[in-house]
Amino acid sequence: MMAAVEELKVQGEIRYDEPMSRHTSWRVGGPAETFFVPASIDDLATFLAQLDTDVPLFWHGVGTNLLVRDGGLPGVVISATKMLRHMDRVDALRVTAGAGVPCTQLARQCIRWQLGPSEFFAGIPGTVGGALAMNAGAHGGETWERVESVQTIDRGGELHERSPDDYKVAYRSVTGPRNEWFVEATFLFDPDVTPSMEEMKAMLERRRSTQPLGLPSCGSVFQNPPGNFSAKLIEEAGLKGHRIGGAEVSTKHANFIINRNDASASDIEELIEHVRRTVFEVHGVRLQHEVRIVGEARA
Ligand SMILES: Cc1cc2nc3c(=O)[nH]c(=O)nc-3n(C[C@H](O)[C@H](O)[C@H](O)COP(=O)(O)OP(=O)(O)OC[C@H]3O[C@@H](n4cnc5c(N)ncnc54)[C@H](O)[C@@H]3O)c2cc1C
Repeated sequence: MMAAVEELKVQGEIRYDEPMSRHTSWRVGGPAETFFVPASIDDLATFLAQLDTDVPLFWHGVGTNLLVRDGGLPGVVISATKMLRHMDRVDALRVTAGAGVPCTQLARQCIRWQLGPSEFFAGIPGTVGGALAMNAGAHGGETWERVESVQTIDRGGELHERSPDDYKVAYRSVTGPRNEWFVEATFLFDPDVTPSMEEMKAMLERRRSTQPLGLPSCGSVFQNPPGNFSAKLIEEAGLKGHRIGGAEVSTKHANFIINRNDASASDIEELIEHVRRTVFEVHGVRLQHEVRIVGEARA
């Protein structure tokens, strides 16, 4: 029998009007109407099986690629990262990791197991689930190059085993079965590649010296257009340091927008639009944003 959220019996935690600014790396975002932290996969499946099908559902990783508008998210936000933390070596070349495993942890463990290429995962500050949804990548590596299979859960709480053939995967873009979310992935590594902890540390050091990592951001805001770099186009358009409200185009890396001073989501969204318009006027190139913009504007 279908039910409204308030009537559901769950083992996990349900919070109402939870500020999403607590759950995004930009530190902005209005409230989630309902924020559900399931206690287990069974708890999540039971919740989904009972939930009214017309309640909007949003799956949250750790919010490192999310701009939640100031009016917040209607319906239910699922935060399953704490319980999907398993990571197992299946055989000589395969690792299964839950959607809540931080990519940095996946990188370190795979390097310890001598499975590569895996160093690039350390450059992605989100979860395995977020990396699967985004085809996140860094330093020449991309998530889906290593995916052998995934497990998903659908809106009715049913689990599915899926192969990469079920998905259309491109640069920072993944489309697959509707209304399914990633629960875990099995990664297949390359027997001819030996990963290196030193290489991973050097890569992180290069990032620290070129990116504003101590300040709230979502990493690169725009995808790189074919054959070009968004950061270069934005810098050449004279936008470094440009501010709207508390949001600023980073002076260290032009494709980062930082929350410099108590920005609102609308400050950031306006700045994104300003950068897009200006780059088009100056270079004739239409930038596409990589960050996911979700939720409702403040009424
Ligand atoms: C400083 C910094 C540097 C960054 N550098 C990089 C980089 O080098 N390369 C790169 O690719 N990205 C980078 N990012 C962006 C970000 O870390 C990645 O996009 C990451 O994959 C997002 O993971 P997340 O868990 O934070 O997902 P969230 O931001 O919470 O969600 C992102 C999207 O994924 C969906 N999602 C999350 N979990 C699931 C799931 N289990 N099933 C289905 N959908 C799901 C959400 O619904 C949302 O649409 C950077 C971000 C920051 C802050």
